[in-house]
Amino acid sequence: MSEAANYGFDTLQIHAGAKPDPATGARQTPIYQTTAYVFRDADHAAALFNLQEVGFIYSRLTNPTVAVLQERIATLEGGVGAVCCSSGHAAQIMALFPLMGPGCNVVASTRLYGGTVTQFSQTIKRFGWSAKFVDFDDPEAVAAAIDENTRAVFGESVANPGGYVTDIRSIADVADAAGVPLIIDNTSATPYLCNPIAHGATLVVHSTTKYLTGNGTVTGGVIVDSGKFDWSANDKFPSLSQPEPAYHGLKFHETFGALAFTFHGIAIGLRDLGMTMNPQAAHYTLMGIETLSLRMERHCENAKKVAAWLEQDERVDYVTYAGLPSSPYFDRAEAQYPKGTGGLFTFAVKGGYDACVKLVNALEIFSHVANLGDTRSLIIHSASTTHRQLTPEQQEAAGAGANVVRVSIGIENAEDLIADLDQALSKATA
Ligand SMILES: *Cc1c(COP(=O)(O)O)cnc(C)c1O
Repeated sequence: MSEAANYGFDTLQIHAGAKPDPATGARQTPIYQTTAYVFRDADHAAALFNLQEVGFIYSRLTNPTVAVLQERIATLEGGVGAVCCSSGHAAQIMALFPLMGPGCNVVASTRLYGGTVTQFSQTIKRFGWSAKFVDFDDPEAVAAAIDENTRAVFGESVANPGGYVTDIRSIADVADAAGVPLIIDNTSATPYLCNPIAHGATLVVHSTTKYLTGNGTVTGGVIVDSGKFDWSANDKFPSLSQPEPAYHGLKFHETFGALAFTFHGIAIGLRDLGMTMNPQAAHYTLMGIETLSLRMERHCENAKKVAAWLEQDERVDYVTYAGLPSSPYFDRAEAQYPKGTGGLFTFAVKGGYDACVKLVNALEIFSHVANLGDTRSLIIHSASTTHRQLTPEQQEAAGAGANVVRVSIGIENAEDLIADLDQALSKATA
Protein backbone atom coordinates (compact mmCIF):
# COMPACT_ATOMS: atom_id res chain seq x y z
CA MET A 1 0.00 0.00 0.00
CA SER A 2 1.31 3.47 -0.85
CA GLU A 3 0.10 6.57 1.02
CA ALA A 4 -1.60 5.20 4.11
CA ALA A 5 -2.71 8.53 5.52
CA ASN A 6 -6.02 8.77 3.67
CA TYR A 7 -7.32 5.25 4.19
CA GLY A 8 -9.94 4.45 6.79
CA PHE A 9 -9.44 2.19 9.81
CA ASP A 10 -11.12 -0.86 8.23
CA THR A 11 -8.75 -0.68 5.25
CA LEU A 12 -5.64 -0.07 7.35
CA GLN A 13 -6.34 -2.94 9.77
CA ILE A 14 -6.04 -5.30 6.76
CA HIS A 15 -3.39 -3.64 4.61
CA ALA A 16 -1.07 -1.38 6.66
CA GLY A 17 2.50 -2.65 6.72
CA ALA A 18 1.82 -5.59 4.38
CA LYS A 19 2.43 -6.18 0.70
CA PRO A 20 2.56 -9.36 -1.38
CA ASP A 21 5.68 -11.33 -0.49
CA PRO A 22 8.48 -10.07 -2.77
CA ALA A 23 9.98 -13.57 -3.19
CA THR A 24 6.84 -15.61 -3.96
CA GLY A 25 3.92 -13.23 -4.43
CA ALA A 26 2.19 -14.85 -1.43
CA ARG A 27 -0.80 -12.61 -0.69
CA GLN A 28 -0.94 -13.38 3.01
CA THR A 29 2.08 -12.30 5.07
CA PRO A 30 4.30 -15.40 5.38
CA ILE A 31 5.53 -16.62 8.75
CA TYR A 32 9.26 -16.03 8.32
CA GLN A 33 10.27 -18.93 10.54
CA THR A 34 13.98 -18.15 10.63
CA THR A 35 16.46 -17.14 13.27
CA ALA A 36 19.04 -15.46 11.03
CA TYR A 37 19.41 -13.74 7.65
CA VAL A 38 22.30 -14.12 5.19
CA PHE A 39 24.39 -10.95 4.74
CA ARG A 40 25.10 -9.94 1.13
CA ASP A 41 28.76 -9.52 2.06
CA ALA A 42 30.97 -8.35 4.93
CA ASP A 43 30.30 -4.64 4.20
CA HIS A 44 26.55 -5.22 4.31
CA ALA A 45 26.93 -7.00 7.65
CA ALA A 46 29.00 -4.12 9.07
CA ALA A 47 26.48 -1.52 7.87
CA LEU A 48 23.63 -3.41 9.54
CA PHE A 49 25.50 -3.74 12.82
CA ASN A 50 26.37 -0.02 12.73
CA LEU A 51 22.66 0.82 12.17
CA GLN A 52 23.74 2.65 9.00
CA GLU A 53 21.44 0.42 7.00
CA VAL A 54 18.14 -1.01 8.18
CA GLY A 55 17.71 -4.74 7.58
CA PHE A 56 17.43 -8.13 9.18
CA ILE A 57 20.25 -9.63 11.26
CA TYR A 58 18.81 -11.98 13.85
CA SER A 59 15.21 -12.61 14.97
CA ARG A 60 15.78 -11.53 18.58
CA LEU A 61 15.98 -8.02 17.07
CA THR A 62 13.83 -8.01 13.95
CA ASN A 63 11.83 -10.44 11.81
CA PRO A 64 9.84 -9.68 8.63
CA THR A 65 6.53 -11.08 9.98
CA VAL A 66 6.89 -9.18 13.25
CA ALA A 67 7.89 -6.05 11.27
CA VAL A 68 4.57 -6.10 9.38
CA LEU A 69 2.69 -6.25 12.67
CA GLN A 70 4.78 -3.40 14.09
CA GLU A 71 4.03 -1.19 11.13
CA ARG A 72 0.35 -2.10 11.19
CA ILE A 73 -0.13 -1.25 14.88
CA ALA A 74 1.93 1.94 14.59
CA THR A 75 -0.33 3.03 11.71
CA LEU A 76 -3.56 2.20 13.56
CA GLU A 77 -2.36 4.11 16.64
CA GLY A 78 -1.07 7.11 14.69
CA GLY A 79 2.52 6.56 15.84
CA VAL A 80 5.82 6.77 13.94
CA GLY A 81 7.10 3.34 14.99
CA ALA A 82 6.37 0.33 17.15
CA VAL A 83 8.28 -2.49 18.81
CA CYS A 84 6.57 -5.82 19.45
CA CYS A 85 7.57 -8.03 22.34
CA SER A 86 6.65 -11.25 24.05
CA SER A 87 3.78 -10.07 26.28
CA GLY A 88 1.98 -7.00 27.54
CA HIS A 89 4.05 -7.02 30.69
CA ALA A 90 7.23 -7.21 28.61
CA ALA A 91 6.00 -4.15 26.69
CA GLN A 92 5.64 -2.21 29.94
CA ILE A 93 9.21 -3.00 31.02
CA MET A 94 10.48 -2.25 27.51
CA ALA A 95 8.65 1.11 27.53
CA LEU A 96 10.15 2.15 30.87
CA PHE A 97 13.63 0.75 30.24
CA PRO A 98 15.07 3.58 28.07
CA LEU A 99 13.58 6.20 30.42
CA MET A 100 14.41 4.92 33.88
CA GLY A 101 17.53 4.30 35.92
CA PRO A 102 18.26 3.48 39.55
CA GLY A 103 16.46 6.00 41.79
CA CYS A 104 13.95 6.99 39.10
CA ASN A 105 10.19 6.70 39.50
CA VAL A 106 7.04 6.42 37.43
CA VAL A 107 3.86 8.20 38.52
CA ALA A 108 1.04 5.71 37.91
CA SER A 109 -2.73 5.69 38.18
CA THR A 110 -4.27 3.95 41.18
CA ARG A 111 -6.66 2.24 38.75
CA LEU A 112 -4.58 -0.22 36.74
CA TYR A 113 -4.72 -3.84 35.66
CA GLY A 114 -3.85 -5.93 38.75
CA GLY A 115 -0.76 -7.47 37.16
CA THR A 116 0.59 -3.99 36.44
CA VAL A 117 0.07 -2.95 40.07
CA THR A 118 2.20 -5.90 41.18
CA GLN A 119 4.84 -5.26 38.50
CA PHE A 120 5.09 -1.58 39.46
CA SER A 121 4.74 -1.85 43.24
CA GLN A 122 7.00 -4.88 43.72
CA THR A 123 9.07 -6.19 40.84
CA ILE A 124 10.51 -2.99 39.35
CA LYS A 125 12.10 -2.26 42.74
CA ARG A 126 14.69 -4.91 41.81
CA PHE A 127 15.91 -2.51 39.11
CA GLY A 128 16.09 0.37 41.61
CA TRP A 129 12.95 1.89 40.05
CA SER A 130 9.79 2.78 41.95
CA ALA A 131 6.19 3.80 41.32
CA LYS A 132 4.00 6.42 43.00
CA PHE A 133 0.28 5.68 42.70
CA VAL A 134 -2.04 8.67 42.32
CA ASP A 135 -5.74 9.21 41.54
CA PHE A 136 -5.77 10.30 37.87
CA ASP A 137 -9.10 12.08 38.42
CA ASP A 138 -7.03 14.66 40.28
CA PRO A 139 -4.54 16.18 37.78
CA GLU A 140 -3.18 18.48 40.50
CA ALA A 141 -2.27 15.45 42.59
CA VAL A 142 -0.54 13.95 39.54
CA ALA A 143 1.42 17.20 39.09
CA ALA A 144 2.33 17.23 42.78
CA ALA A 145 3.57 13.62 42.65
CA ILE A 146 5.99 14.34 39.79
CA ASP A 147 9.44 15.09 41.22
CA GLU A 148 12.94 15.56 39.77
CA ASN A 149 13.37 11.77 39.56
CA THR A 150 10.11 11.10 37.71
CA ARG A 151 10.71 9.76 34.22
CA ALA A 152 7.21 8.75 33.10
CA VAL A 153 3.51 9.01 33.89
CA PHE A 154 1.52 5.80 33.32
CA GLY A 155 -2.23 5.16 33.04
CA GLU A 156 -4.81 3.09 31.15
CA SER A 157 -7.28 4.54 28.63
CA VAL A 158 -10.16 2.42 29.94
CA ALA A 159 -8.90 0.83 33.14
CA ASN A 160 -9.33 -2.90 33.34
CA PRO A 161 -11.78 -3.81 34.78
CA GLY A 162 -13.57 -1.20 36.88
CA GLY A 163 -15.15 0.88 34.10
CA TYR A 164 -12.81 3.81 34.81
CA VAL A 165 -12.08 6.15 31.90
CA THR A 166 -8.92 8.29 32.10
CA ASP A 167 -9.21 11.87 30.86
CA ILE A 168 -6.02 11.42 28.83
CA ARG A 169 -5.77 15.08 27.74
CA SER A 170 -5.77 16.43 31.30
CA ILE A 171 -2.98 14.03 32.34
CA ALA A 172 -1.03 14.68 29.11
CA ASP A 173 -1.08 18.41 29.92
CA VAL A 174 0.39 17.71 33.37
CA ALA A 175 3.09 15.43 31.93
CA ASP A 176 3.95 17.96 29.20
CA ALA A 177 4.30 20.77 31.72
CA ALA A 178 6.72 18.61 33.73
CA GLY A 179 8.70 17.51 30.66
CA VAL A 180 8.06 13.78 31.14
CA PRO A 181 6.42 11.34 28.71
CA LEU A 182 2.89 9.98 29.24
CA ILE A 183 2.52 6.23 28.63
CA ILE A 184 -1.01 4.92 28.07
CA ASP A 185 -1.93 1.24 28.22
CA ASN A 186 -4.60 1.05 25.50
CA THR A 187 -5.27 -2.71 25.80
CA SER A 188 -8.93 -2.50 26.80
CA ALA A 189 -9.95 0.23 24.35
CA THR A 190 -7.82 -0.82 21.35
CA PRO A 191 -6.86 1.67 18.61
CA TYR A 192 -10.35 1.23 17.13
CA LEU A 193 -12.03 2.89 20.12
CA CYS A 194 -9.26 5.26 21.19
CA ASN A 195 -5.98 6.68 19.90
CA PRO A 196 -4.20 7.94 23.04
CA ILE A 197 -1.59 9.75 20.90
CA ALA A 198 -4.37 11.98 19.49
CA HIS A 199 -5.21 12.88 23.11
CA GLY A 200 -1.59 13.77 23.93
CA ALA A 201 0.10 10.49 24.96
CA THR A 202 3.79 10.04 24.15
CA LEU A 203 3.89 6.23 24.13
CA VAL A 204 1.14 3.63 23.89
CA VAL A 205 1.51 0.07 25.18
CA HIS A 206 -0.72 -2.92 24.52
CA SER A 207 -1.14 -6.47 25.59
CA THR A 208 -1.75 -7.80 22.06
CA THR A 209 -2.79 -11.00 23.86
CA LYS A 210 -6.24 -9.49 24.28
CA TYR A 211 -8.44 -7.75 21.67
CA LEU A 212 -5.75 -7.19 19.01
CA THR A 213 -5.26 -10.95 18.60
CA GLY A 214 -8.82 -11.42 19.75
CA ASN A 215 -9.10 -15.19 19.91
CA GLY A 216 -7.07 -16.22 22.95
CA THR A 217 -4.24 -17.91 21.03
CA VAL A 218 -0.96 -16.12 21.79
CA THR A 219 0.59 -13.68 24.25
CA GLY A 220 2.26 -10.55 22.94
CA GLY A 221 2.83 -6.87 23.56
CA VAL A 222 3.74 -3.72 21.69
CA ILE A 223 5.05 -0.22 22.38
CA VAL A 224 4.03 2.51 19.94
CA ASP A 225 5.93 5.81 19.85
CA SER A 226 4.19 9.07 18.90
CA GLY A 227 7.58 10.44 17.77
CA LYS A 228 6.60 13.75 19.36
CA PHE A 229 8.64 13.84 22.56
CA ASP A 230 11.83 15.92 22.66
CA TRP A 231 14.22 13.55 24.47
CA SER A 232 16.97 16.19 24.35
CA ALA A 233 14.98 19.05 25.95
CA ASN A 234 16.55 18.27 29.34
CA ASP A 235 19.10 15.85 30.78
CA LYS A 236 16.53 13.37 32.09
CA PHE A 237 16.80 10.81 29.28
CA PRO A 238 20.52 10.17 28.74
CA SER A 239 19.93 6.76 27.06
CA LEU A 240 18.22 8.63 24.22
CA SER A 241 19.93 12.03 24.22
CA GLN A 242 23.51 11.24 25.30
CA PRO A 243 26.11 8.83 23.84
CA GLU A 244 24.74 5.33 24.62
CA PRO A 245 27.61 3.24 26.06
CA ALA A 246 25.72 0.04 25.20
CA TYR A 247 25.87 1.01 21.50
CA HIS A 248 29.44 2.31 21.10
CA GLY A 249 28.50 5.88 21.99
CA LEU A 250 25.65 6.33 19.49
CA LYS A 251 23.32 9.27 20.28
CA PHE A 252 19.90 7.80 19.44
CA HIS A 253 17.90 11.04 19.40
CA GLU A 254 20.44 12.97 17.35
CA THR A 255 20.84 10.09 14.88
CA PHE A 256 17.27 8.82 14.49
CA GLY A 257 15.15 11.87 15.39
CA ALA A 258 11.47 10.93 15.79
CA LEU A 259 12.38 7.23 15.55
CA ALA A 260 14.88 7.35 18.44
CA PHE A 261 12.69 5.49 20.90
CA THR A 262 11.79 2.77 18.38
CA PHE A 263 15.41 2.20 17.33
CA HIS A 264 16.52 2.13 20.97
CA GLY A 265 13.78 -0.41 21.73
CA ILE A 266 15.16 -2.77 19.11
CA ALA A 267 18.91 -2.08 19.22
CA ILE A 268 19.19 -2.00 23.03
CA GLY A 269 15.88 -3.25 24.46
CA LEU A 270 15.30 -6.39 22.41
CA ARG A 271 19.02 -6.99 21.93
CA ASP A 272 19.80 -7.02 25.64
CA LEU A 273 16.50 -7.88 27.36
CA GLY A 274 15.46 -10.42 24.72
CA MET A 275 11.68 -10.13 25.31
CA THR A 276 11.08 -10.82 21.64
CA MET A 277 7.80 -11.67 19.89
CA ASN A 278 8.14 -14.78 17.72
CA PRO A 279 6.87 -14.81 14.10
CA GLN A 280 4.11 -17.38 14.85
CA ALA A 281 2.65 -15.07 17.48
CA ALA A 282 2.89 -12.11 15.08
CA HIS A 283 1.01 -14.18 12.48
CA TYR A 284 -1.91 -14.94 14.83
CA THR A 285 -2.08 -11.29 15.88
CA LEU A 286 -2.02 -10.10 12.25
CA MET A 287 -4.94 -12.47 11.55
CA GLY A 288 -6.81 -11.04 14.50
CA ILE A 289 -6.24 -7.39 13.66
CA GLU A 290 -7.82 -7.86 10.22
CA THR A 291 -11.24 -8.03 11.93
CA LEU A 292 -10.59 -5.72 14.89
CA SER A 293 -13.19 -3.05 14.05
CA LEU A 294 -15.91 -5.64 13.35
CA ARG A 295 -15.24 -7.45 16.59
CA MET A 296 -15.00 -4.28 18.69
CA GLU A 297 -18.34 -3.05 17.38
CA ARG A 298 -19.97 -6.31 18.42
CA HIS A 299 -18.11 -6.44 21.76
CA CYS A 300 -19.38 -2.94 22.58
CA GLU A 301 -22.93 -3.60 21.38
CA ASN A 302 -23.17 -6.87 23.34
CA ALA A 303 -21.56 -5.40 26.47
CA LYS A 304 -24.07 -2.55 26.48
CA LYS A 305 -27.02 -4.97 26.18
CA VAL A 306 -25.73 -7.40 28.80
CA ALA A 307 -24.75 -4.61 31.23
CA ALA A 308 -28.16 -2.93 30.88
CA TRP A 309 -29.94 -6.25 31.47
CA LEU A 310 -27.83 -7.02 34.56
CA GLU A 311 -28.35 -3.54 35.98
CA GLN A 312 -32.14 -3.92 36.08
CA ASP A 313 -31.98 -7.46 37.51
CA GLU A 314 -32.82 -7.67 41.19
CA ARG A 315 -30.25 -10.42 41.83
CA VAL A 316 -27.51 -7.92 40.92
CA ASP A 317 -26.34 -5.14 43.26
CA TYR A 318 -24.58 -2.90 40.75
CA VAL A 319 -22.78 -2.88 37.39
CA THR A 320 -19.67 -0.78 36.61
CA TYR A 321 -19.65 -0.14 32.88
CA ALA A 322 -18.73 3.26 31.44
CA GLY A 323 -21.24 2.65 28.62
CA LEU A 324 -24.18 2.82 31.07
CA PRO A 325 -25.72 6.23 31.85
CA SER A 326 -25.49 5.33 35.58
CA SER A 327 -21.66 5.29 35.38
CA PRO A 328 -19.87 8.36 36.76
CA TYR A 329 -17.62 8.08 33.66
CA PHE A 330 -20.45 7.92 31.11
CA ASP A 331 -20.04 11.51 29.81
CA ARG A 332 -16.26 11.25 29.64
CA ALA A 333 -16.56 7.95 27.79
CA GLU A 334 -19.06 9.42 25.29
CA ALA A 335 -16.71 12.32 24.57
CA GLN A 336 -13.47 10.34 24.38
CA TYR A 337 -14.79 7.05 22.92
CA PRO A 338 -17.73 7.86 20.63
CA LYS A 339 -17.63 4.34 19.14
CA GLY A 340 -18.06 2.61 22.52
CA THR A 341 -16.19 1.71 25.69
CA GLY A 342 -15.30 -1.91 25.04
CA GLY A 343 -16.45 -5.24 26.34
CA LEU A 344 -15.20 -5.36 29.94
CA PHE A 345 -17.04 -4.64 33.14
CA THR A 346 -17.69 -5.90 36.63
CA PHE A 347 -20.91 -6.55 38.48
CA ALA A 348 -21.78 -7.36 42.07
CA VAL A 349 -23.98 -10.35 42.89
CA LYS A 350 -26.35 -10.35 45.86
CA GLY A 351 -25.24 -13.22 48.06
CA GLY A 352 -21.54 -12.32 48.05
CA TYR A 353 -18.62 -14.72 47.71
CA ASP A 354 -20.64 -17.96 47.71
CA ALA A 355 -23.12 -16.73 45.12
CA CYS A 356 -20.26 -15.61 42.84
CA VAL A 357 -18.59 -19.02 43.05
CA LYS A 358 -21.92 -20.73 42.24
CA LEU A 359 -22.54 -18.32 39.36
CA VAL A 360 -19.17 -19.03 37.79
CA ASN A 361 -19.76 -22.78 38.14
CA ALA A 362 -23.26 -22.65 36.66
CA LEU A 363 -22.50 -20.66 33.49
CA GLU A 364 -22.46 -22.65 30.27
CA ILE A 365 -21.36 -20.22 27.53
CA PHE A 366 -19.06 -18.05 29.66
CA SER A 367 -15.68 -19.64 30.41
CA HIS A 368 -14.05 -19.17 33.80
CA VAL A 369 -10.55 -18.00 32.79
CA ALA A 370 -7.93 -15.39 33.66
CA ASN A 371 -8.03 -13.71 30.26
CA LEU A 372 -10.03 -11.06 28.44
CA GLY A 373 -10.61 -9.75 24.94
CA ASP A 374 -11.48 -13.11 23.40
CA THR A 375 -14.27 -13.72 20.86
CA ARG A 376 -15.72 -15.95 23.61
CA SER A 377 -17.39 -14.52 26.68
CA LEU A 378 -15.24 -14.92 29.75
CA ILE A 379 -15.80 -14.46 33.46
CA ILE A 380 -13.58 -14.44 36.52
CA HIS A 381 -14.29 -14.18 40.21
CA SER A 382 -11.22 -12.22 41.24
CA ALA A 383 -11.59 -12.72 45.00
CA SER A 384 -11.27 -16.52 44.68
CA THR A 385 -8.58 -16.44 41.96
CA THR A 386 -6.31 -13.55 40.87
CA HIS A 387 -6.86 -11.45 44.01
CA ARG A 388 -6.99 -14.42 46.41
CA GLN A 389 -3.81 -13.44 48.26
CA LEU A 390 -5.10 -9.95 49.11
CA THR A 391 -6.93 -8.94 52.29
CA PRO A 392 -10.68 -8.13 51.95
CA GLU A 393 -9.77 -4.42 52.24
CA GLN A 394 -7.23 -4.68 49.41
CA GLN A 395 -9.73 -6.63 47.28
CA GLU A 396 -12.31 -3.90 47.86
CA ALA A 397 -9.83 -1.16 46.90
CA ALA A 398 -8.94 -3.03 43.70
CA GLY A 399 -12.63 -3.20 42.71
CA ALA A 400 -12.45 -6.96 43.27
CA GLY A 401 -14.58 -7.37 46.39
CA ALA A 402 -15.87 -10.83 47.37
CA ASN A 403 -19.26 -10.11 45.70
CA VAL A 404 -17.80 -8.89 42.38
CA VAL A 405 -17.19 -10.77 39.12
CA ARG A 406 -15.50 -9.44 35.99
CA VAL A 407 -16.82 -10.29 32.55
CA SER A 408 -15.27 -9.92 29.13
CA ILE A 409 -18.25 -9.94 26.80
CA GLY A 410 -17.65 -11.86 23.58
CA ILE A 411 -19.18 -11.59 20.14
CA GLU A 412 -21.80 -14.35 20.51
CA ASN A 413 -25.53 -13.56 20.34
CA ALA A 414 -26.32 -11.15 23.17
CA GLU A 415 -29.62 -12.90 23.94
CA ASP A 416 -27.76 -16.19 24.48
CA LEU A 417 -25.35 -14.49 26.87
CA ILE A 418 -28.23 -12.94 28.79
CA ALA A 419 -30.07 -16.28 28.97
CA ASP A 420 -26.91 -17.96 30.27
CA LEU A 421 -26.45 -15.31 32.97
CA ASP A 422 -30.15 -15.56 33.84
CA GLN A 423 -30.08 -19.32 34.46
CA ALA A 424 -26.75 -19.13 36.33
CA LEU A 425 -27.94 -16.23 38.54
CA SER A 426 -31.01 -18.30 39.46
CA LYS A 427 -28.80 -21.16 40.59
CA ALA A 428 -26.37 -18.80 42.34
CA THR A 429 -29.00 -16.93 44.36
CA ALA A 430 -31.53 -19.76 44.98
C1 LIG B 1 -3.44 -8.49 30.19
C2 LIG B 1 -3.06 -7.07 30.41
C3 LIG B 1 -1.72 -6.71 30.60
C4 LIG B 1 -0.60 -7.72 30.61
O1 LIG B 1 -0.48 -8.33 29.36
P1 LIG B 1 0.13 -9.81 29.15
O2 LIG B 1 0.06 -9.99 27.68
O3 LIG B 1 -0.77 -10.75 29.91
O4 LIG B 1 1.50 -9.78 29.70
C5 LIG B 1 -1.43 -5.37 30.78
N1 LIG B 1 -2.40 -4.44 30.80
C6 LIG B 1 -3.70 -4.75 30.61
C7 LIG B 1 -4.73 -3.68 30.63
C8 LIG B 1 -4.08 -6.08 30.42
O5 LIG B 1 -5.37 -6.38 30.27
